[in-house]
This record gives sequence, structure tokens and C-alpha cells, in this order.
Amino acid sequence: MKTYDAIIIGAGHNGLVSAAYLAKAGKQVLVLESRAIPGGTLVTEEFDGFMADMVQSGNLCPDIIRNLKLARFGLKPKPVSEIPAFISLLPDSDILVLESDPVKAAESIKRFSPKDAARWPDFLTFMEKATKFLESAYDTLMPRLPKVSLSEGYSLAELALDLRLAGRKNMLNIIRVIPMTAVEFLEEWFESEQLKAAVASVGIHGVTLGVMSAGTTFNLIHNWLNRGGLAHQYLGRAGQVTDALVAAAEAYGAEMRLSAEVTSIKIEDNQAAGVVLKDGEEISAQTVLSSADPKRTFLTLVGPMELSPTFVWHTQSIKMRGSVAKLHLGLKSLPDGMAADTTYTIAPALNYLERAYDAAKYGQISEKPYLEVTTSENVISIHFQYAPYKLKQGAWNDKRDTLEKLAVDTLAVHFPELQSSIVKSKLLTPADLETTYSLTEGDLNHGQIMLDQFMFMRPIPGWSNHKTPIDGLYLCGSGVHAGGGISGASGRNAAKVVSKEI
Ligand SMILES: Cc1cc2nc3c(=O)[nH]c(=O)nc-3n(C[C@H](O)[C@H](O)[C@H](O)COP(=O)(O)OP(=O)(O)OC[C@H]3O[C@@H](n4cnc5c(N)ncnc54)[C@H](O)[C@@H]3O)c2cc1C
Repeated sequence: MKTYDAIIIGAGHNGLVSAAYLAKAGKQVLVLESRAIPGGTLVTEEFDGFMADMVQSGNLCPDIIRNLKLARFGLKPKPVSEIPAFISLLPDSDILVLESDPVKAAESIKRFSPKDAARWPDFLTFMEKATKFLESAYDTLMPRLPKVSLSEGYSLAELALDLRLAGRKNMLNIIRVIPMTAVEFLEEWFESEQLKAAVASVGIHGVTLGVMSAGTTFNLIHNWLNRGGLAHQYLGRAGQVTDALVAAAEAYGAEMRLSAEVTSIKIEDNQAAGVVLKDGEEISAQTVLSSADPKRTFLTLVGPMELSPTFVWHTQSIKMRGSVAKLHLGLKSLPDGMAADTTYTIAPALNYLERAYDAAKYGQISEKPYLEVTTSENVISIHFQYAPYKLKQGAWNDKRDTLEKLAVDTLAVHFPELQSSIVKSKLLTPADLETTYSLTEGDLNHGQIMLDQFMFMRPIPGWSNHKTPIDGLYLCGSGVHAGGGISGASGRNAAKVVSKEI
């Protein structure tokens, strides 16, 4: 039987990035994916004849694209001139159009506040510096506090230098704003409610927090980095990014098996020894990387018996709490006034967003939801918040019609022809995200992006450097430092740690 240097659980983009890096370094790698298609959530899937992207954007880190030579494997970035606008849909058919060109954006902002229009370029400069710092942080292995090795100390010193290079004033400001609420942060910059709310929506995107929750400025910077700005910038269709990653990993020598669900990780004397598949097949390897979320990895695939009670308690405490549903609408054509390849947001006021979040706190679906809508030629994809995984009353299967109607009605206020254009729809509730995509509690990012779950505390304090209490078992998915989102940083960083050790 063939032996492998490393087995990777999951062919999401992070698993594929790890596989490609390790295979390129000459390791024998096997990727095992439970679904019949690779990509995890970075997929373009068909529903009733329509093609829909599961995610809105997919910006892999530039060094990953370069190092893995993804252009050779079919990755075709869109030209910079095609960066879409971010349009906030407001009451009374008004709109705020935030184009990527700062001069054009300022023109639209001026209608709401000339003072804010004048500040917009400075705000963009600050966000660029903040995202640069975060990018460096995501490229740095976090130490296993309280123990810091010499090499980890050196990387941290480099990170501190990057922060210092942002300039003394910016350095302090970046550190100061990270724990702030999105509302407090944006109130320091702007006066117009419409602008503050549109930008603040990116701070709550994908997390079960409100714009008045601490740390939503951090999530704003995180999402800004992953999107490449306010609007979602595509590297191409989601499935094309995955195709390029699969082609690269296979060309470098990695093997991949689809419909191969791992049910447990074999452990002998606290050392990873391989995996067991659903059909009972056992595959041996001294090194296993898991891109399944940390809760699933430790509590289901490893099992609590192999771990200390304290570690199990920490794992059980990881906050997953998904509250996003996704609705794809297949249309005859886009309704009048709606453009393809554009990001629309329904986030008209800060109080509107906070009230939408209030519902989630009580286990209810937001009656007036925050929506982010991305469009292609004949498909509209609606990101719906908040749709809490744990409903106070009833089960998700009984709430499908309610949620779909809320989403369509909310958007139809701005595009009255929408209803009559719909041919087919496909709804993914948080429960569907869990069953179909193995996202525990439907959490998009394999763990909430929150202050007590970031940097050296992601996924668990002291275990952010991809290693685990089991020798030879590593984490490489979004639940570990540098995730979530489509950047591939967790997969890249994990591969760097593993290739030094095998
Ligand atoms: C609806 C939605 C919209 C999103 N939008 C965006 C966006 O616009 N921009 C952005 O940056 N991020 C977005 N995200 C978040 C982003 O998709 C994730 O953070 C990221 O894709 C996670 O990548 P990953 O490779 O770490 O994990 P995943 O993509 O979750 O891949 C993990 C893989 O492991 C497999 N797996 C799990 N358990 C097993 C097992 N036991 N055996 C074998 N295989 C297993 C799964 O099937 C899956 O294929 C979105 C997520 C969702 C759900």
C-alpha cells in the first residue's frame, strides 16, 4: 500500500493550498474530500440550470498566486479596471455609489456630506495601512503564548517593524481602533449616516455581532483585506479559482480523492498515524493536516479521549454561532436598474443594522435584515444576516419560506420587477451550511472573527501556530490564525510549518 508523507483532510481552498505547497516541496501528499467536488465553500455550483458562486469574492494572497504559479494553471485575474462598485440602496430610491475610484466615490458622498467627501481619500489611505499591517500579521506565525521561541520572537519583531513603518501616528491608531465598535470608529471619520452605515456593514459581514459590538472594526479591516476594498473583487468565478488550485496541486504531484469522508484520525501514543474513512478504509501517514474546522477536528475526528480535559474545554468554548443564510435567485434577466458584477448592500442606517442584529441575540430571523447582494448576468446571490443557527422557536426546515420571502421583499423595495423575474431559487440556511459543507453551526469562517478568537488566540490560546496537542497533527483551515475568508493564508502558513518538520 502506498504511504504518504502527509494526508490533508478537506479540499477547500486552504487544504488545496497546503497540498500544492507540500507537493511542490517534494512531499507525497494525499487530499481527502468528503464532497463529490473540491473547493469547500470556494465553489461555483449549478442549481436548476443556473450557475451560482457560493462566496462573493476570492482574493488569494498574491504570494500564493506567484509561488504556486497559478496563472499557468488557468487563474485569470480580472483587470483592475473591472473592480465593481459598492452600492448602498437607500430609502426613496436613493443610492450611495462607492466606486473604487476615490474621486468618483467622493462625488457620490458629496450629496450626503461635502465634509465626508473631503475625508474619503484619507480614510482609504488609513484602511490601506491597516490592511497592510493585517496582511503582515497573517504572514507571521503567532507565538504559543506564554512560551515564545527565538524564531517566533524574531517574526514578531519583524511584524512590529512593519507596524512601525506605517508611521508613528498610524501605528498607534491601528492598534487603538482594532478593538473599537464599527460605529465608534466610523463616527471618528464621518458625519453622514448613509456612509457610516454602508461601511459599517462590512464590519459585521459574516459575524454574529452588531455594529455596536466591540471588535467590529477589526472585522472591517479583515474583510477589507480579503475583498481588496469595500466591494467584492473577484479573481474570476469561485470555481475557476478552485480549478486552478486543483490543477496546480496535482501538477506538483498531490493526489486527491473525492467522496472520501474521514470519520476519524488514527492516533498511536499521542502521534498521528493516519485516517479512517467512512467505508472503513484506513490510510497511514505520520502527518495529518486538517482543514475541517477546529471543533470538528478535535471533538469528532480526534475525539475527546485523546485530549486533556482543559484542551477539550477550550475547544468546546470556541464560538461558532453562524447567522448567515445565502439565497441564490435564478432570473429571466436582471431587474431594471440592477447591474451585473456589482455589490449592493442594504444597510441604510446604523440603527437599522443594530436592530437587525438584535433579532439574532434572541434566536430570531431579522425581520428587517442586513443584505449584501452580488450579481452576475442572470443570478442574484443574497447574503442574509441575521439568520441564527440556533433558532429560539422551530426548526430551519420550517423557516425556509419565511426567510426567502423576507430576502426577496426587502430587495424588491428597490427593484420592483425582481419578483416577476425569478425563475428558480436556491436557499442555504445555516443548517444547510453545516450538513452540506461541514461548517459546524453554519459558521462561515470556521470560528467567529472576534477579539478573543484572533491572532494568537485562534483557534485556542496557545495553539495558533498550526500545531496541536497530538504530534504530527496540524490545522490548516480557516479556523486557525490568518483565517477566515478566501486568502489561502492559513493553508500556506501551515504548509510552511509542516515542511520544516517532515
Ligand atoms: C455563504 C458563504 C459566503 C462566503 N463569502 C465569502 C466571501 O465573499 N469572501 C471571503 O473571503 N470569504 C467568504 N466566506 C468564507 C470563506 O468561504 C471561508 O472562510 C473559507 O472558504 C474557508 O476555506 P477553508 O479551505 O478553510 O475551508 P472550507 O472551504 O470549509 O473547506 C473545508 C473542506 O473540508 C471538507 N471536510 C470537512 N470535514 C471533512 C471530513 N471529515 N473528511 C473529508 N473532508 C472534510 C469540507 O467538505 C470542505 O470541502 C463565505 C463562506 C460562506 C459559507
